[in-house]
Amino acid sequence: MTLKEINHVVTRSGRTLDHPDVEIPVAKDLTTVPGIPKRDKDVAFYTRNYPLETQAIEKAADREWTWTVYTGEMYEYRKHHDEVNKPLIEAALVSGDVMPEVSPESGKDVTEEIRSKARELGFGEVGFTKYDRKYTYKSKKGWVKYEHAICLALEQDYWQTQTIPSMEAEFAHFGTYEDEGRLAIDLADYIRSLGYKAQIHSPNDNSAAYIPMFVEAGLGQLGANGQLLSPHFGSRSRIMIISTDALVTYDKPVDYGIHKFCEECQVCVNRCPGRALVKEKVWWRGAEKHKLMYDRCRPVMATYEGCGVCMLTCPVQRYGMPSVMEHYVETGEILGKGTHNLEGFEIRGKGYFGPGELPSFSRDFFDIPHGTKEEWLFEQFKNKLAENGESSTEDAEEFAGQLSEILKENRGFDAGL
Ligand code: SF4
Ligand code: SF4
Repeated sequence: MTLKEINHVVTRSGRTLDHPDVEIPVAKDLTTVPGIPKRDKDVAFYTRNYPLETQAIEKAADREWTWTVYTGEMYEYRKHHDEVNKPLIEAALVSGDVMPEVSPESGKDVTEEIRSKARELGFGEVGFTKYDRKYTYKSKKGWVKYEHAICLALEQDYWQTQTIPSMEAEFAHFGTYEDEGRLAIDLADYIRSLGYKAQIHSPNDNSAAYIPMFVEAGLGQLGANGQLLSPHFGSRSRIMIISTDALVTYDKPVDYGIHKFCEECQVCVNRCPGRALVKEKVWWRGAEKHKLMYDRCRPVMATYEGCGVCMLTCPVQRYGMPSVMEHYVETGEILGKGTHNLEGFEIRGKGYFGPGELPSFSRDFFDIPHGTKEEWLFEQFKNKLAENGESSTEDAEEFAGQLSEILKENRGFDAGL
C-alpha cells in the first residue's frame, strides 16, 4: 500500500553494466514537465544579447585568488592535477581536427554502438541530443564543430565522496576528471573507427553550459544545489560532452519528479555552510531554477577543500534516486532528512555540524575579488585613486603594465593556448 499515487515509472539502465535496470516511481504530486520548465523565446533572447561565458574568464579574479587560500596540501595537489590534466586538455582542444581513417557504413545509425562502448569504458550515464549552441560560451563559439552531443557522466567514488569536505574527497573529484579525460580519448578514437568525427569537450575546459544538454538527453534533472541529479549517483559525477557528425538518434528529456521534489526536500539549501542556496526558484535566462549565489559559495569552496556539502547531503547522491522516490511514494517523506546520517558534516577547524547546525563566518570571509582579472585590477586602481585623491606616475605605469599582461593572457585564451 503506497501513500502517494504514482503518475509514471521511469526505467533506466543499471548503475554499471553488471547491474540490472532500475525503476523509478514518480508520484503524481511531483510531476511537472520532462526536463525543465523553459521559455524558448527567453532562452534565445539571452543567448543573443547576453551570451554565456566560461567562469575561467568571467570569474578569473576569484579563481586566481583561490590559490592564495588553499592549504599547503591542497595547493600542491592542485598543481599536480593541473600538470596531469594539461595534456588531456590539449588533446581535447585539437580532437575535432583528427580525421577518421575509414568511411562510415552508409545509412547505419550508430547510437547503440557508441552507447555500449561508452558504458563499457565506465561512463555511468550516456545520452544523445543536439549540441545546442545556445549554451556555447562566447570564447568557444568558433571552436565547436559538430552538431550532435554525446553527454557523458563518470561516477565519482562513493566512499571518498562521503568524506566531503576533505582532501580525500578532492582526490576523488579531481581524479575522476583525470580518468574522464583519458576515457574520452578512447571513446573519440572508437567513434572515428566507425568512420565519424569526434570532438572532445573537456570537463576542465568547458565549451558550454553542459547541464541543459544532459537534461535534454534525459540523464537527470537540475537540483536545488545547481547540479545535475542523475538516477544512480545524483550529482556525484563529472560531466563532459563529445560532439560528433555520426548518424545518431536523440534521447528525450525525462520527468524524474526532481523539479518538484527539491521544493519538498530543501536539505542542501538548509545545510549549505555559505548560505549560498536559495529556497525559491526563479526564472533565469529562460529556465525556472534554483539559482546559487556565487559570491556566498566561492569563499567556502576555496577555503574548505571544494566544500561540496550540497552534494554530500543530497539524498539522491547518498541513496540513489530509485530508493529516494520509492520512499517518497510509500511515506510521503524525504529519505534521510533530519538525520545525522544524511545531514551531518565536519568543517576543518570548526567541528561537526548535525541537522539544524551551521558554522558561522566573519563578514570579511566573503570579501573576495570579483569579475575578470582586468575588472578587478581596475577596481583596485580606482579605490587607490579614491583613497589618495590622485595617482602617481608609478601607480599609473604599474596599472598599465599589469593590464597589458592580462590582455596578453586573454589573447592566449582566445587562441585556445
Ligand atoms: S559548495 Fe558549499 S558553499 Fe557552495 S553551494 Fe555547495 S554547500 Fe554551499
Ligand atoms: S538535497 Fe534535496 S533539494 Fe537539494 S538537490 Fe538534493 S534533492 Fe534537491
